[in-house]
Amino acid sequence: MTQSVPAPQDARTIQLSQVFKSYGDYPVLKDINAHVARGEVVVICGPSGSGKSTLIRTINRLEEISSGSITLDGRNIHAPMRTKELNALRSRIGFVFQNFNLFPHLSVVENVSMSPVRVKGVAPDVAHDKALKLLDRVGLADKAGAYPAQLSGGQQQRVAIARALAMEPPVMLFDEPTSALDPEMVGEVLTVMKSLAAEGMTMLCVTHEMGFAREVADRIWFIDAGQILETATPEAFFKNPQHPRAQRFLADLR
Ligand code: ADP
Ligand code: MG
Repeated sequence: MTQSVPAPQDARTIQLSQVFKSYGDYPVLKDINAHVARGEVVVICGPSGSGKSTLIRTINRLEEISSGSITLDGRNIHAPMRTKELNALRSRIGFVFQNFNLFPHLSVVENVSMSPVRVKGVAPDVAHDKALKLLDRVGLADKAGAYPAQLSGGQQQRVAIARALAMEPPVMLFDEPTSALDPEMVGEVLTVMKSLAAEGMTMLCVTHEMGFAREVADRIWFIDAGQILETATPEAFFKNPQHPRAQRFLADLR
């Protein structure tokens, strides 16, 4: 069996230790212990309702945890802090949602440049130029003046990625970024994600795109019923899953 070698402590961008979370009496995350190393791409997979979204949302504190700790570069994300501090911390963690969540009343370039201006105090013309470069990078230079409703789902999701990148986060989180897309648009979003990975971005992705996981992930976390049951390289996970529930999950995909 392939056991992933633990990263040295100082390379652990994200560290989750003994994380528990309940919704009321219902435990959703049960003793999560895991880390993401700098430059690592981790794909989280597991059945629907297993806690994948909750887990990833705790990392930028869109969800509170019941106990345990989560650190980003050694800083406790769930420590008591003021809204301003929390916003500053969140701006260091890019988040891409299933449903894009673009601002409908803002143009594409405004969607991308808004947070650097509002949260980081970047000069509007500087943020605008940078937004145009990011739109070029995701293949949407010609859509800068368009509004979200005028774009396809795949284009909107690429804008959402550019918007997250505009804050220059050291870490990007993705929660099923292609699940709401028509099949023909999945590839263009995965291509952008692959290029980010190739550039060394630290990424944590919840996805059902097992081709992407195989090709791009450094490690897979398999989660079921609120527990990480297996972490492995894609080679090991897909060829020789260890946990019976992982075996069943993979068998059901085929
Ligand atoms: P996944 O993303 O793997 O499908 P989720 O993290 O969305 O799973 O959900 C895990 C479990 O927590 C599910 O049983 C879901 O119904 C429950 N859950 C999610 N969000 C809430 C909430 N806000 N309140 C109560 N239960 C929730
Ligand atoms: Mg989910």
